[in-house]
Amino acid sequence: MMSLDGRRALVTGGGSGIGRGICHVLGEAGAEVVVADISAAGAAETVRLLRDEGVVADAVVLDVTDSIAISRVRGELETEGRSIDILVNDAAIFEMASLEELEVESWDRMIDVNLKGPFLMMKAFLPGMLEHKWGRIISISSTAAKTPGTLCAHYCAAKKGLIALSQSVALIAAPHVAVNCICPGYVTTPMTSTETRFWHETGRNVSEGAALDQMRAEVPMGRLGTPEDIGNAIRWLCLPDSDYITGQAINVDGGLDFF
Ligand code: NAD
Repeated sequence: MMSLDGRRALVTGGGSGIGRGICHVLGEAGAEVVVADISAAGAAETVRLLRDEGVVADAVVLDVTDSIAISRVRGELETEGRSIDILVNDAAIFEMASLEELEVESWDRMIDVNLKGPFLMMKAFLPGMLEHKWGRIISISSTAAKTPGTLCAHYCAAKKGLIALSQSVALIAAPHVAVNCICPGYVTTPMTSTETRFWHETGRNVSEGAALDQMRAEVPMGRLGTPEDIGNAIRWLCLPDSDYITGQAINVDGGLDFF
């Protein structure tokens, strides 16, 4: 297996679910990992797990909607003498509501965290990659960007916007920095519980277990995804001989969605 020795990765949302799995896979491949999350406890727990595995890791408490905090973090990381080689935009929120129930505040919050956050992170960390003539930016979109559902229009819009943002930045960043999105299908994480709880609590008479079974039945590969499935795809995109892949939105979904 080719290694990411000598690379330094920053993973937003690294304190939970898919982000934690990505940190694990990148760390296992030799990268030093900066775990950035709005949850101090989540980031600290990921760092503890990584260090137990012998990975060089540090936690950073960061709200991705806060441009001043992002500048401060970039400054602190760069004054240590090295920049970030790999940026993974994983941090996001998920809420479900019909269009009639969808409040403007919820729309704004979703666009802020899920779209403006990755924009601010790319703006802050791309210059260092361009200066060093190597980099990878990978953002976690969703199959919901390609096949939207009816009960999370704001989430689907933000995730589709993230693909367009990444493709635009891919043009700006070429030829030394590759910029891509990964689109997960169903992955078992705390975010998935938001969806199964919704089906349960909104009187649709579906238990959380039955909702998970229903999701599983939709996946041709016969199982829900794991955070490591997503991490493995990201590790592959970070390898030196993946540098001809840019501007793509790649599904990692067990065949759930063909678009
Ligand atoms: P999760 O809720 O387990 O983790 C999200 C993490 O983001 C948490 O640690 C949270 O603290 C952090 N976060 C939230 N707001 C933040 C902010 N403002 N600043 C910094 N950190 C913040 O969710 P997950 O399921 O692991 O999802 C990870 C990514 O994968 C998200 O982008 C999500 O949209 C995407 N995704 C998930 C699924 C799925 O089935 N779980 C499917 C498709 C896409």
